[in-house]
Amino acid sequence: MSSETAVTPTNFIRNIIIQDLETGKHDGIITRFPPEPNGHLHIGHAKSICLNFGVAAEFGGRTNLRFDDTNPLKENEDFMLAIMEDVRWLGFEWDELLHASDYFQQLYEYALHLIKTGKAYVEELSAEEIREYRGTLKEPGRESPYRDRPVEENLDLFERMKAGEFADGTLALRARIDMASPNINMRDPVVYRIRNASHHRTGDEWHIYPMYDWAHGISDAIEGITHSLCTLEFEDHRPLYDWFLDNIPAPCHPRQIEFARGNLDYTVMSKRRLRELVEEGLVNGWDDPRMPTLAGLRRRGFTPEAIRAFWTEMGVSKADSIISMGVLENAVRNDLNVRAPRTMAVLDPVKVVLTNFPEGETEWLEAPVHPQDEAMGTRKVALTREIWIERGDFMEDPPRKFFRMKPGGEVRLRNAFIVQCNDVIKDEQGEITELHCTFDPDTRSGMPGASRKVKGTIHWVSAEHGRPVEIRLCDRLFTVPNPLGEKDRDYREFLNPHSLDVIQNAIVEPHVADGAAGDFYQFERTGYFCHDNVDSKPGRPVLNRIVTLRDSWARIEKEMAQAGKN
Ligand code: ATP
Ligand code: MG
Repeated sequence: MSSETAVTPTNFIRNIIIQDLETGKHDGIITRFPPEPNGHLHIGHAKSICLNFGVAAEFGGRTNLRFDDTNPLKENEDFMLAIMEDVRWLGFEWDELLHASDYFQQLYEYALHLIKTGKAYVEELSAEEIREYRGTLKEPGRESPYRDRPVEENLDLFERMKAGEFADGTLALRARIDMASPNINMRDPVVYRIRNASHHRTGDEWHIYPMYDWAHGISDAIEGITHSLCTLEFEDHRPLYDWFLDNIPAPCHPRQIEFARGNLDYTVMSKRRLRELVEEGLVNGWDDPRMPTLAGLRRRGFTPEAIRAFWTEMGVSKADSIISMGVLENAVRNDLNVRAPRTMAVLDPVKVVLTNFPEGETEWLEAPVHPQDEAMGTRKVALTREIWIERGDFMEDPPRKFFRMKPGGEVRLRNAFIVQCNDVIKDEQGEITELHCTFDPDTRSGMPGASRKVKGTIHWVSAEHGRPVEIRLCDRLFTVPNPLGEKDRDYREFLNPHSLDVIQNAIVEPHVADGAAGDFYQFERTGYFCHDNVDSKPGRPVLNRIVTLRDSWARIEKEMAQAGKN
C-alpha cells in the first residue's frame, strides 16, 4: 500500500493539454525530459520528471529521455547512466532514449538553411566584443561589421569551421535577427561555436557545437514533441525558440510552456554547486545521504513513492517559491508510516538487569509488525534477563514530569510488561553501568494486569539477542534556509558541522542486522531507518536515519521565533 493519492490535481499545463486534445490540435501528446549529462539529478529535476512523464502517462502519450549533450567539455557517460538509473528509480520508463548529438548532422543542415536564406552569418568579433556590441536592457545593441557578409562567404567560412580550420573562439555562427530587440536573446544570438574537442559520443567528427537554444527546439521538433515543458528561466528564450522553428523547414512546431523551478530550503540545488561540494570533498560523493540528489535521497532511504507524492501535492505553477524541507520530510513520513515494519532499536544503550527473570532463559514475545496493519503479521521479540534501554530513558534525579525510568518508578517495556527500577549501579567514575529492575509478571499480555496504566512506555532490546550496528544520523546540510542568498558570504560557511552524526554501536533486533539494502523500518520512538545501500555489508550493517518521527526542526524554529518575541 502506498500513500500516494490517486487523484491528480489539475494545473495550467494539464489544462492546456486537455484543451489541445479536445480541439484536435493533437491526437496524442509527446513530452521529453532533457537533462544535460554534466552531473547527477536532484530533487528539483524530479519535479520536471514527474510532470513530463506523469502528464504523458495520464493522457496515453509518450515521453522521451533526451540527453542534451551539446557541450563536449563537461559531459560524460557515467552521468548518463546515473541519470537513467535515477529516472527508473523514480518509477518512470522512457519511450525512446535519445541524444541531442544524434541530431548534429541535421542541426548543421538547418544552419546551412539559415545561412542560405540570409538569416545567419559568420562572426569574427571576439566573445568579449560580441558582449560589448550586444547592448543592455536599456540600450539597443550595435550591428556587427560582419553582419552583411555575402551568403557564399558565410557558407565557405562555416564549412571550414566545421572542418576544423579555426581555433576555439575565433569565429562563430550567429542568427541574423534584430540587434535592437528589447529581448536580448533576439540580438543575433550565437548558434554555433568552435570547440576543437572530442565528444564522448561523436568523437572527433565535429569541430563546431550547437548552442543550447538552437539544439533544443530543433531536437523537440525532430522528435515530434507536442509540449516542451521547461522552467521559467527559459521564458525569455521562447521568442527565439519560435523564431528558429519558424525560419527553418521544421517538421513541426512544439509549444514551449514554462513552469516554476522546485526549490527547497537548507540546501543548494544547482548541479554546479553540488559538483563543488563533491569535488572539494565537503560531502562524501554525489550519493552522500545529505545531498539533495536523487542518488543521495535514495541512499538516505527516501522512497520514490514519497517523492512523487510530494511533487504531486506541491503542484505546478508559474510562481517561484522555496519549499520547506519539512514538507518533503513529511511526505516521506506519510509514506513510511503506512509501510514501514516496526521494530525496536536502542541507539545509546545502557544495560538493565531484570533481577526476577530467570538466568539463561529466552522468552519469545509476539509483537505486531505494524500496529495499524494486521496483514503485516507479527514478529518474535526475544526477552532475556539482561536488556538494553536508551540511556536517555533513565534519569536518576528527574524533573516532576519525567515519566520514563527513574529510581523507584514504574515504566512499561514496550511489548512486554511493567518494570520497577530498584538499583542504580555505577563505575568508579560515577557512570551508570547497570540498572537493576524487577518486572511485574501480572502485566504481561494476556494477564489480568496487562492493561494496567503507567505514564511511560520505553523501547528495549535483549542484550543476548540484540546485535550491534552502525547508525548514521543525517541532518540538514546547511544551517540557514538559503545558503546561496547571503550576499558577500560563501555558502560553504553555512555548512552544518553536525549534519552527520555516526553512532558506532547501536543495538537492533537480529532480523534488522540481517537486513539488506533497500530494507526500511520504523525504530519505535526514534525514527525511520534503512540499510545504507553502499556501506551496509553482511556482518557489518550500517543504517541511515531516513527521517525522525516528528519534525524537530519545526519545534526548534518555533522556539527560536518565541525566544525572539520575548
Ligand atoms: P541545474 O541548474 O540544477 O544544473 P539545469 O536546469 O541546468 O539544472 P538540466 O540538466 O538542464 O539542469 O535540466 C533538465 C531539465 O530539468 C530541464 O528541463 C530543467 O528545466 C529541469 N529542471 C532543472 N532544475 C529544476 C528544478 N529545480 N525544478 C524543476 N525542474 C528543473
Ligand atoms: Mg543546464
